[in-house]
Amino acid sequence: MSSTVTSASVGAPFTATVTGTARIGPRRELKRAVEGYWAGRVDRAGLERIAAGLRMDVQRALVDAGLDSVPVNTFSYYDQMLDTAAMLGALPARVAHLEDGLDRYFAAARGDADTTPLEMTKWFDTNYHYIVPEIGPDTNFRLDAGKVLGELKESLDAGIPARPVIIGPITFLLLAKAVDGGADPIGRIAEIWPLYDELLGRLRDAGAGWVQLDEPALVGDLTPDQLALVARTYGRFAGLEHRPALLVTSYFGSLGPALEELATTGVEGIGIDLVRGNLDELDENTRSQVLRDKLLVAGVVNGRNVWRTDLDKALALLDGLDDLAGSVAVSTSCSLLHVPYSLADETGLDDALRSWLAFGHEKVREVVTLATARRHGAEAVGAALDECRAALVSRSRDPRLHEDDLRARLADTAERGARRSAYEQRRELQDKVLGLPVLPTTTIGSYPQTAAIRGARVALRKNEIDAREYTRRMKSEIAQVIELQERLGLDVLVHGEPERNDMVQYFAEQFEGFVATQYGWVQSYGSRCVRPPILFGEVRRPRPMTVEWIRHAQSLTSKPVKGMLTGPVTILAWSFVRDDQPLAESAQQVALAIREEAQDLESSGIRVIQVDEPALRELLPIRSADRAAYLEWAVGAFRLATGGVADDTQVHTHLCYSEFGEVIQAIADLDADVTSIEAARSRMEVLDDLTQIGFAAGVGPGVYDIHSPRVPTVDEVAASLRLALRAVPAARLWVNPDCGLKTRAPQEVEAALSNVVQAADRVRSEL
Ligand code: GLN
Ligand code: ZN
Repeated sequence: MSSTVTSASVGAPFTATVTGTARIGPRRELKRAVEGYWAGRVDRAGLERIAAGLRMDVQRALVDAGLDSVPVNTFSYYDQMLDTAAMLGALPARVAHLEDGLDRYFAAARGDADTTPLEMTKWFDTNYHYIVPEIGPDTNFRLDAGKVLGELKESLDAGIPARPVIIGPITFLLLAKAVDGGADPIGRIAEIWPLYDELLGRLRDAGAGWVQLDEPALVGDLTPDQLALVARTYGRFAGLEHRPALLVTSYFGSLGPALEELATTGVEGIGIDLVRGNLDELDENTRSQVLRDKLLVAGVVNGRNVWRTDLDKALALLDGLDDLAGSVAVSTSCSLLHVPYSLADETGLDDALRSWLAFGHEKVREVVTLATARRHGAEAVGAALDECRAALVSRSRDPRLHEDDLRARLADTAERGARRSAYEQRRELQDKVLGLPVLPTTTIGSYPQTAAIRGARVALRKNEIDAREYTRRMKSEIAQVIELQERLGLDVLVHGEPERNDMVQYFAEQFEGFVATQYGWVQSYGSRCVRPPILFGEVRRPRPMTVEWIRHAQSLTSKPVKGMLTGPVTILAWSFVRDDQPLAESAQQVALAIREEAQDLESSGIRVIQVDEPALRELLPIRSADRAAYLEWAVGAFRLATGGVADDTQVHTHLCYSEFGEVIQAIADLDADVTSIEAARSRMEVLDDLTQIGFAAGVGPGVYDIHSPRVPTVDEVAASLRLALRAVPAARLWVNPDCGLKTRAPQEVEAALSNVVQAADRVRSEL
C-alpha cells in the first residue's frame, strides 16, 4: 500500500519522551499567522509555511535534546478536540456548505456572519479551553486522516522518531455534547471504532511504530458501563492485526479502576501521570502482573506547573517501577501545552527564583537527564543532579517562602473571619446607608478597554509617558465612565477598571510573593494566550492596590461606587501556584491580602465592594470524591476575603456562568449580599435552581448577553426582568448585564445600558 515503511521496530520500547508540546510558538508566531490569515493579511501558503516551521522547530529541539520518541500531530491550528471532530467527520452541518476544509474548521471554531460557532469549555481543570464537538442524529462519522497522516509524513521525512498522537474515542465522546435531540454521544462509540481501526492501519502503513491515544477522561469518575467500554475499546484495537504499537495515555490524575481495565487488554503501553496520580489503585500483585509486558510511560516531570523537578525523588520513583513494568520511559505528566516555552529569555527573575523554575524547554532537559541517569547511572548526570539539589535547598530555605508572622496573623484572622451578622440584619443596615430604589441597576465592573487605554499602558511600559501622565489619563477615563453612568441613570456605579490589563495580573503585580514573566505565554484557546503570574512565596499586600482609583471615582458622584476586587480562588486558578504547600493555604494568604484591601476601601468611604470569583467552578476537582474538600476551602477563602467589612458595607460577588451544577450550594455559602451571574442565555432558569436551595440574598441575573455585539431592546430586557420576578421577589432582584463590558464597543455599551435602565424603570412601574 504505502511506501515509507520505516517501522520494522513496531513496539520497540523507547526511553524518553514528552506527552505533548506547545504549538503557539515561543513568540506566539502561530497566533499572529492565524489571526493574519483570518484578516486576509496572510495567505494560505504563508500560514502553512509558518505552521510547518513551528512544528519542525519543536520536533528538532526535542530530538536534539535527546528524546527517542517525539509526539506529532500535537500541532493544531485551533484545538485538538476540534481536530478530532474534523478527523471523524463530525463537524456540524451548519459548516458543511464550506468547501474548503480549513475554512470549515475555522468556521466551526469561530463562527461567521451566519454561523454560530461550537461552544468552548475548559479542558478538565486546566485553563485551556477546547471546542466541544456536537454529536446529533445528523452526525455521519467518516474518517478524514489527512492531517495526522500529513504531519506524520512530514516528521518521518525529516528523520524524526515520530509518534502520532490522537484523542482516544472514549475521551472524544465523553467530552462531546448531544445536539438536536440526539442520544448521549458515548452511546455512539461503536460507530467510530471502525474509523479508528482504519486509522491505525493507515498509520502503520505510513510508518508509525507507536501511536499515542490520549484518554484523559479515564481519570474522572466512570460508570461501570464506561469502565467496560475501556476494556472493549482497547481490547478491540489491540486485537487488530495490522496496527502500530498502542500507547494509551492518561493525565491530570490517577487512572483509578480504569487502569486495570486497560492493562488487561493487549495495548503495549500505558502513560500515567505520576505527579498528580499514582498506581495505588492496583495492589502489588495485580500491578506487576498487568504491567509486566507493557511499556509504562511514566509522567514524572510536571507538565502543569513551572517548578523544577526533584530529580532524586523522580529517579527513586522510576526505580520502583522497574520491577513492575516490562520497560519504563521517562515522560511529562501531561502535554507541555500548559507551560511556557523556555526560561532562557526571562531576564526579570532573580537568580534564586530562576533556579527553582523549569519551563517547557527545561522540562525536556529534565526528562533526558532522568533517562540518561537510568541508562548510564547517576554519575553520568552528576552535575545536573547537583545543580538540582542546590536549587531545591535554596528554595526550601528562602525567607520569602516562610514568613512566620504572616502565618500567625492568618491563623488569628481565620478564627474570626466571617461577617458579623446574618444577611437579614446586614440587609437592613445596608438599605439605610445606600437608599437604593427597588430593582437597582448596576454593571459588573469593566467598561470598554479602548485603544486609548491600551495605548496609554503601552506608552507607560515603553517609558514614553511617566506614571503621573498615565494616572492622569486613567483618571480621565474614570471620569468619563462615571459621567456616562450618571447620564444613563444607573444606581450603583463602577469606575470601569481602565487601569487593569487583566483582573488577576493586576493584583499579582502588586502582591509580594508573585512574579510576572516576560514571555511566559500559554495557549488559552484558539489563537489566544495568557501569561499567568507565578505565585512563588508568601503573599503580602505591601500597600493598597485599588483605593486611589475607586476613591477618585467616588469623589465624582454622590451615587455609591462599587470597589472591584478579584477573589482568591480566581487569582490562584489563573496563576502558576506553589507546589510546596496545599492550595488551600495559598488561598488563605491571598484572601487575607484581599481582605485588607476591602477594609481599606471601606475606610475610605466605599460602601459597596464586589469580589469576583468567576473561576470558582473551574477549579472543581475532576473526581467527585475530592470536591467537598475543595469547596470547603474555596468558600472559606472567599469568606475570609470578604468577612472583614462592617455589616452595613454591601458585599457583591460575580460569577460568569449559570450552570452551577455541584457548586450551587457553595454559591449560597459564599454569603455575599448580592450575587450577579450569567443568566441571559439560559433564560433565567438559574434562579429556580437558587431558589430551590433556599438562596435568600440579593441576586443580579444578567439581563442581556454581553458576548454578542447585539444591543438588547427595552422590551427584551423588560421581558427578562419579568421572567426573573417569577423566581425572585423584587426586593432582592438586581438589574445588570451578564458580565464585564471591556470587550464591547463604547456605542454598544451606551445603547445597551440605556435600554437596561429604561426597562428597569418600566418594570418598577408595574410592581
Ligand atoms: N469585574 C470584572 C469585569 O467586569 C469581572 C470579569 C469576569 O467576571 N470575568 O470585567
Ligand atoms: Zn463575568
